[in-house]
Amino acid sequence: MEILKGAVAAAKIKEEIDHEMGRLNGYTPRLAIVRVGEKPDDISYERNAIKKMEKLGLLADSYTFPADISDGEFKEQFQKINQDENIDGILLLRPLPKQIREKDIERMIDPGKDLDGISPENIAKVFAGEEDGFAPCTAEAVIEILKAGNISLEGKRMTIVGRSMVVGRPLAMLALKENATVTICHTRTKDLEGTCRNAQILAAAAGKARMLNGSFVGDGAVVIDVGINVDEDGNLCGDVDFASIQDKAAAATPVPGGVGGVTTSVLAKHLVRAALARK
Ligand code: NDP
Repeated sequence: MEILKGAVAAAKIKEEIDHEMGRLNGYTPRLAIVRVGEKPDDISYERNAIKKMEKLGLLADSYTFPADISDGEFKEQFQKINQDENIDGILLLRPLPKQIREKDIERMIDPGKDLDGISPENIAKVFAGEEDGFAPCTAEAVIEILKAGNISLEGKRMTIVGRSMVVGRPLAMLALKENATVTICHTRTKDLEGTCRNAQILAAAAGKARMLNGSFVGDGAVVIDVGINVDEDGNLCGDVDFASIQDKAAAATPVPGGVGGVTTSVLAKHLVRAALARK
């Protein structure tokens, strides 16, 4: 089984970024990472994003707010970031605490700075198959990994486990745009195992540690594992039981070392695109 390392796609994206940076005449794009509270997952994502921006010669600032900030106060602060001329793109770490109406923020964010595709305008573009919006970075990272591995989606049966607005649904739309025949699975899906086994490309985004084992994978399938979970021993693992698919899959992404790092590369690519559009 071939291991689809995220580093290969990340290197390809870096080349694209380097090329695009040349068009910015020395200007360095600036990212604002907005975090409310101190959730370890958010802090870890923020740290990885900052590291990636630094590595690519991009600027990133963190804007952090207390977990108990009021809806009104957060909106006021968020609008300042949104309207700051020195900021080219925004990454909002979600979910936000309950007292903040997240839907309002999705409608408020400037679609031109909305690097993770949460605004209605960007979502509509992804669903319409238009290319000038921003898709959620993780969903796009899956497509980038397949492309970097020279795996065509054209006419392939692709099954996605998960229907969230962050991964499953936008990924289905991006795959459809690449002419895959897409099936989306969720907790009410009957015969999940058979539906997954029938796929030529299987993308797992359920958030359940190692739930998809070898019997969910068809012979010669390509498996992309989006899941980031912590198992009972405290180890990081994906949604796929990597050891049990070795003899069935043709290729698969590892966790860690797969989709995660490519997500921040896509974020960087979006930042440069946002900066170019604002110049
Ligand atoms: P959500 O919890 O929002 O969605 C999970 C989806 O999986 C839901 O649609 C749910 O179905 C479905 N699901 C859950 N359990 C099962 C099951 N037993 N059988 C079938 N379907 C199931 O998660 P996210 O989409 O936000 O994230 C998914 C995973 O991806 C997580 O592990 C997360 O950590 C990871 N992730 C990784 C990123 C990266 O950069 N690599 C970024 C974002 C997320 P239903 O709708 O019916 O409830």
